[in-house]
Amino acid sequence: MPKRRAAFHNLGCKVNAWETEAMEQMLESAGYEIVPFGEPADVTVINTCSVTNIADRKSRQMLHRAKKMNPAGAVVAVGCYVQAAAETLERDAAVDLLIGNDRRRELPELLEEWFTGKKPAAEEAVIDIGRSPEFENLSVTGTKEHSRAFIKVQDGCNQFCSYCIIPYTRGRVRSRKPEDVLREARALADAGYREIVVTGIHLASYGMDFREKKSAELDGRELLALLVELDRVPGIERIRLGSLEPRIVTREFAQTLAALPGICPHFHLSLQSGCAETLRRMNRHYTPEDYARGVLELREAFHDPAVTTDVIVGFPGETSREFQESRAFLEKTGFYEMHVFRYSRRRGTRADAMENQVPEPVKEERSQDLIALGHRMSLHYREKWLGRPAELLMEQEETIGGRRYLCGYSREYVRGAVPLADGEDGKKMQGKILAGTFSRKITDDVLQFAPVGN
Ligand code: SF4
Repeated sequence: MPKRRAAFHNLGCKVNAWETEAMEQMLESAGYEIVPFGEPADVTVINTCSVTNIADRKSRQMLHRAKKMNPAGAVVAVGCYVQAAAETLERDAAVDLLIGNDRRRELPELLEEWFTGKKPAAEEAVIDIGRSPEFENLSVTGTKEHSRAFIKVQDGCNQFCSYCIIPYTRGRVRSRKPEDVLREARALADAGYREIVVTGIHLASYGMDFREKKSAELDGRELLALLVELDRVPGIERIRLGSLEPRIVTREFAQTLAALPGICPHFHLSLQSGCAETLRRMNRHYTPEDYARGVLELREAFHDPAVTTDVIVGFPGETSREFQESRAFLEKTGFYEMHVFRYSRRRGTRADAMENQVPEPVKEERSQDLIALGHRMSLHYREKWLGRPAELLMEQEETIGGRRYLCGYSREYVRGAVPLADGEDGKKMQGKILAGTFSRKITDDVLQFAPVGN
């Protein structure tokens, strides 16, 4: 019998992307052939997102597109949008099977049942995620990226930021057992990965659910203990951290990280606004001063680390003064990268019901302003690396301005490119770490890199 063919499409965050890879590998082990999305398939899995109303709409559109492409195949809706809107999706003729959060592991069995004509009802497909007690232990043995692999260590969030639906779609904090994380890291190292990215929905909360006495103190101690162990895994030479909550970056946290050779000096501290009043309405539990202290600790513990952030413009009630305050804070702090989001409403959140929603053209203007500022700050940080020694983990060959290069990233995530001679095959250097110096700017985003000895 020919193998059944399965295609996947992912929407949303890095955690979703990791879960999509885990599901692909599950179906592969169950005997399916994985084909690119868009090709004829017996099964199309859409891992949906529900972070904003727009994400909901995109998830619906993608499910309909999948049905149009493969009318006879099964279209499976998985993830956050299923969790948020199972009843609506149950009535949607484009969707054959619903799988909510924490039930992804059952995908192969649920598909087998579907092929024999059984379709679970929406209430069976979606569990009460707020009561889900444990981390859903999926695992990934390799990723599409060649040298860098993500490891999901945590799910859920207890913070309830006023604009965010995640605590309702992904439930409370559930952490993966350290031994399971370490097993996956060792397997990835054995498969040749040199760099891992430790990720979660609210990484700073890792391990809070392991505490015997329930304490809500966000101090990162279990995360630090996990990182100490990960740093000892032979073969893993770089550990990058996913988005961190600024409150956990104390002096002790930063100094302990700095003592671990594998930790990359590249930190994403999610800010959202540099104005204290806006942060209060966002229910973010820190002030710009707290945030600045965290950044300072990192800058004292590491040599010129790359600090990146997220910022939302046009949050309800953000006046021109509040925006200017936020902007001034961003400029003063200085970032390597700044991801700018226009506030986007999400039904069911407190921010959606707030007065003084900011008009779209104002959001657009503020966003353009910050994107331009972010671009200038990126250039400034990158240019500081010219002439400095660094190490690049070599990834893939690319042609830039008509010339062939092998590209890679430094520990600070500065992109560098080593020129390839005519006929030289970059593949033999892929996955290797080269020491050298950034020598000149090729484009705004890439610096030329001269390996030592070349
Ligand atoms: S920290 Fe806030 S924004 Fe992040 S997942 Fe939790 S509630 Fe959402």
